[in-house]
Amino acid sequence: MFTRQLLVLGPEAQEKLSSLDVLVAGCGALGTAILELLVRLGVGRIAVVDADVIETSNLHRTHLFTLSDVGKPKALVCAQRAMEIGSGSKVTPILDIVDETNAESLVKGRDFVFDALDNVNPRLILNDACVKNGVPLIYGGVTGEYGSAMFVSPRDTPCLSCFMEPVEQADACETMGTTAMTVSLVANLQVQMMLNAIRGDIPRGLYYVDARSLTLQAVDMKRNPSCEACSLGEYRYLKGIRMNCGLVRVNERPPAGPRPYLKRTPDGLLICYENCFKKIGR
Ligand SMILES: [Zn+2]
Repeated sequence: MFTRQLLVLGPEAQEKLSSLDVLVAGCGALGTAILELLVRLGVGRIAVVDADVIETSNLHRTHLFTLSDVGKPKALVCAQRAMEIGSGSKVTPILDIVDETNAESLVKGRDFVFDALDNVNPRLILNDACVKNGVPLIYGGVTGEYGSAMFVSPRDTPCLSCFMEPVEQADACETMGTTAMTVSLVANLQVQMMLNAIRGDIPRGLYYVDARSLTLQAVDMKRNPSCEACSLGEYRYLKGIRMNCGLVRVNERPPAGPRPYLKRTPDGLLICYENCFKKIGR
């Protein structure tokens, strides 16, 4: 399957790819694009974590999803479609969100973690978990026709906490528009960063892509000496952070019956598997 790729990468890199254990956090627009690239590259083991279900408004920018998937869990559909590619990758779905209760157990032992989340607060939790456990994190973000990507090599390069602040207000849930092309550009950068890293070239700096003007810019970034994660080792987001947007864990037991159990409530959408989540602010 990899004959054309072997001509470029060689057997040693291909062997490394097949031995990798990678986590993709989020199986939305960025996550599906990243997942497909990882599977086609021949990455050995991939876990995808997402508790959300597919909506019609996801389809325009989301690789791997079709109209018949609406209402199904994103992580399950992601894993199933990716395995159908047949490259030998083992893809495991995890029907959960990323928060302070599970972030460390999700990232421990992974070779790389891809940040394909669409919200700053869980992203800072993921960053803390990766920096604390020495796991490289590959950040990607998309807004409109702009995007950015950065490789975080713990305590070597800057981390996300060096320059990102959490969103504190309860009602700061903005729905960002984007295009499938911008999403693909950022996903490609993120996966290329992993490929370069396994060949010994740790990507440095924040890469900023502007699809409208067709430019890619590398911005030099310095570690923040007062960063609570990579400089001070305090990892305050692992102690909990208010989730103001997207999916939150709720303490409810769903009635027996098919999963996911979905129910519209005045303050959002209740989504239950073994555990229940509420989709707020969107
Ligand atoms: Zn830092």
